[in-house]
Order: sequence, then C-alpha cells, then structure tokens
Amino acid sequence: MSKVRTRFAPSPTGRMHVGNLRTALYAYLIAKHEDGDFMLRIEDTDQERFVEGALEIIYHTLEETGLVHDEGPDKDGGVGPYVQSERNASGLYLEYAKKLIEQGDAYYCFCDKERLESLRSSVSEGSDTEIVVYDKHCLGLSKEEVEANLAAGKPYVIRFNMPTEGTTTFHDDIYGEITVPNKEMEDLILIKSDGYPTYNFANVIDDHLMGITHVVRGNEYLSSAPKYNKIYEAFGWDIPVYVHCPLITDENHKKLSKRCGHSSYEDLIDQGFVTEAVVNYVALLGWCPSDNQEIFSLEELIKAFDYRHMSKSPAVFDVVKLKWMNGEYLKAMDFDKFYQMAEPYMKEVVTKDCDLKKIAALVKTRIEVLPDLKEQIDFFEELPQYDTAMYCHKKMKTNEENSLEVLQEVLPLLEQQEDFSNDALFEVLKGYVDEKGVKTGFVMWPVRTAVSGKQNTPGGATEIMEILGKEESLRRIRAGIELLQK
Ligand code: GLU
Repeated sequence: MSKVRTRFAPSPTGRMHVGNLRTALYAYLIAKHEDGDFMLRIEDTDQERFVEGALEIIYHTLEETGLVHDEGPDKDGGVGPYVQSERNASGLYLEYAKKLIEQGDAYYCFCDKERLESLRSSVSEGSDTEIVVYDKHCLGLSKEEVEANLAAGKPYVIRFNMPTEGTTTFHDDIYGEITVPNKEMEDLILIKSDGYPTYNFANVIDDHLMGITHVVRGNEYLSSAPKYNKIYEAFGWDIPVYVHCPLITDENHKKLSKRCGHSSYEDLIDQGFVTEAVVNYVALLGWCPSDNQEIFSLEELIKAFDYRHMSKSPAVFDVVKLKWMNGEYLKAMDFDKFYQMAEPYMKEVVTKDCDLKKIAALVKTRIEVLPDLKEQIDFFEELPQYDTAMYCHKKMKTNEENSLEVLQEVLPLLEQQEDFSNDALFEVLKGYVDEKGVKTGFVMWPVRTAVSGKQNTPGGATEIMEILGKEESLRRIRAGIELLQK
C-alpha cells in the first residue's frame, strides 16, 4: 500500500472556522495515524474572496495547534508549488483542461451573461430557488468556430462535458455509496473567464499530482464529489479515498456560523480557551473513540484516531462541554504555564501589590475559562459592599449576632499575630475554635466573609488573609464588625 498522504487545503478567506480546524485536524490525524504525510496547500484561485492576513492566520493556527505539515509552501516536498495561484501562473491547469478538450471531455464555452441568464429556471415548479443548468450550447460549435472565437479574443470558460445518461456511483468512507443520475450533473466550469481554474478543477488536478490518498473535507462538498469522479475518470486517474466530515451545528442545530460568537479558533482563544483543550474538543466533533475516554493529547489522538469511527450525523458544538474540558486542562496544567496565561487577566482586576502567584494557585482548579478568574478574585483589590445576611449560614450555624462576637474575639488575637502565613493563621484560629468548643466553620465563615465580602471565594479565610497581609486583613475585619454593629 502506498504511503498515506492527506492535505489541508484552505482558501485564505478569513478566520479559521472551527469546521476548517477540524478538517485540518482530521487530515493530520489520518496521515499521522498511518505514519503518512500531511500537506498544506493554499487554494487561492478565487481572487475575489481573498482576505488580507488570512494566510498568516492559517500558518499561525497550524503552528499553535501543533498540526505540523510535512509539506507546504514553506516546506518543499517535491510536488510544489503548494499555492494554487503560483501553479496557475505556469499554465498548469489550462494545460490539463486542454487535454480534456482534445479527448472530447471538455469544451470551450463562449456564452455571455445574458444567454446564461436566459437559462435560469426554478429548481422545481413553484420553488423560489433558481439555478442555471447549462444547455451544452457551445459543445455544438465546430472547430473552426471555436478557433475564430479564440482568435477574436472572445471571453470564454472551459466546461467539462458531463454524460447525460446513466448514473454515477461514488463511495465516501463515511457516507457510504451515493448514486446520482448523470443528467443532474451540470457541465462544470473548469477554467473561468479570468483564466483561473475553479476550485473544483484545481482540487482534482492537485490532489492527483500531489499524490493525495485521502481527501478529507467538509460535507458541503459531498454532493459535488460525483462530478469530481468524472474528471478523475476522464484522465484515467485513481480516485482517492473520500472522507467527508459531518456538519457542525450550534446548540440550536443551525450550521455553526459567525453569529454564535465562537465559530472560529481565534474567537475561542480570545475568549480564554486553551489551545490544547480546543483541539481536544474539536477532535470529538464527529468522531467517537471506542472507549469513553474524553481527554486526549494530540499524541493520544494520533494513536486512537480511526476515521472509520467517524459519524455522519451533525455534530453539535456544545460550549458548556468545551468549558468543562477547558477546566480540566487548566487543572492539569503545569503551574508556571498556567500563571503565564492567567497573569494578564489577573492584572486587569488586581492592581495592588500582592502575590499574584498565590492567588493564581487558589483559582487554578476553580475556573473553566481564564476570564472567569477575574470575577473570583476582584475582592483582593477592594472589599466589595456586601449585605450582613451573608454572615448567616445554616450549616455553620452562624448568624449576624454570633458572627459579630467571633469577629470581636478573634480581632485581638490577630492583632497580636506577627506571622501572617496561612499555616500560622490557621493555628491561631484553630486554637480559638478549640477553646470555644465550636466547629471550625463557625469561626472560619464569618472571618472569610469579613475579609472577602463574598459568598464564594477561591481559598479559605486564612489563605485569603495571607495574601491580603496583616494590615488589610485587620482593616476588613474591623469594617465587618462595624457593619454588624449597625
Ligand atoms: N479550499 C476548500 C475550502 O477551503 C478546500 C476543500 C477541500 O479540502 O477539498 O473549503
């Protein structure tokens, strides 16, 4: 068997859509699972859709996600160039289109806009959707007529001459066997009037010339695949294995689109998701491992990924699940790396001189996405206004009255305390707990409430006080006493 070769063939049209990232990932995994080659090819023949900066996004995303290509515009593997506009410049696609013309499988078409418009008709009676089905008018031109038109510089396209009778059966490894009546396949344009090949044509030529064994792409191309097969057949080329990936939808089962705000890799990174978690999650959008494992490193994905276990039903992009997964990655992350990522978010809300690393250690296991930490730690900056009802805790048996008493009694103990480390503070409070013969929470709850002004905090009373320092901790406890006395 020949070496597996896959490609990621993005068009530089903007951000890296989650669907595109998944295509890249699956193409990468299929190749790497078999020790094969993964290639990057830039499909920029649609010059109108080209977006400035999109190429950088493609390179940057592949690098960050670790989907390292073995061949591409920046890594020659002998079948380049890897950018379609550069391939076109050498006349490559036109040459192949002319071959098809010679064989009678393609023809020049000189029909103008008006004529094509006149062919426009509804898909079916009463339907709003209109299509133009080309009527093969120019197939009937004589050789002399064609030559005269070309000599006169008449604009043209080159069309594939699809059969009109019989059926074409096509096999996709995920969707199975698909048969379409040939009369439904229009005469595809291969070369456009601007001299560029269409996506359809360039894709087939390049996949063949570059030795691609498995074509991995979104299922929006599924219905076109039989037409591609006709081109392969006309050249007498082997048809690659097709792996069409299922649709990705949002929570409302609508195609994942910009509107939902998390449809691209950049969106997710901007929202504080961790690259590894995004890659892990995206891998599960259409593929199911044979056991229940959910957390996979890229290495583990390479080992486990069997595309035959891909699903053809649409995959729902579930942000809640992604957030959970992201939280798992944050928990497992090396502390220094976590701190590096968390620091900018922390500095947005804590500008005071305090030990951010200690705060980071407290929140690391308590957040799902990095921006969430801001709301958890903002009390370090400033004691929020809070209601005394917060002192009441049923289980701890605390209320406003006994909380006031606790605060009044621990205040002098803390005032005397020199060592304001977590351990030392805990010992002091524990001593008081034992002496009073109460439960630990009976003391810790009011103290924590006073120093944080919050119902939920990362870390307990003494951990918070260690970070706040003696002066600020005592100030907050005094403020708590005052509030409770009112
Ligand atoms: N250039 C196409 C796209 O970006 C690639 C489709 C394919 O992989 O064949 O959608």
